[in-house]
Amino acid sequence: MTDRTSVFEASDKQKYKSMVPCNQCNEFYPVADMLASDREAHRYWSKKLDKFCPGKTCVQCTFELCRFEHHELGYPPGESPTLEDCWAEICLEKKRKLENRMSAHKNAYKTIDANRKADTKAGIFHFNKGSKKSADGKSTRNSSACTS
Ligand SMILES: [Zn+2]
Repeated sequence: MTDRTSVFEASDKQKYKSMVPCNQCNEFYPVADMLASDREAHRYWSKKLDKFCPGKTCVQCTFELCRFEHHELGYPPGESPTLEDCWAEICLEKKRKLENRMSAHKNAYKTIDANRKADTKAGIFHFNKGSKKSADGKSTRNSSACTS
């Protein structure tokens, strides 16, 4: 277990925006193009979340690790995930994230919409919906904030 904070802090934040070093080869890759690795050697302590989190490994390292582990487990060679399989897994992960984000957004919007409808029913009106601005250019949203 190593403290990888320095690796992150030493990097050029702008250049490596949304990029992290692979826990295996230390090359920087976009987070979205990597796989989470819960292997003990790759886990790191997250100060933000106050717990151990799985690290990230690039597709090449993941592929090689899988092949190595496959061999270690005594499975016949040639049956470990291929490089294509590793990429497929990354794509699947991206799709899962997209679906989560989309459904979270839809649920959140549904709640807001339902609240708005309930408010309207209760006689509370939301003025200046959207981008309408008052004469002095200040937004006059939140007009319903004082009604409760
Ligand atoms: Zn790597």
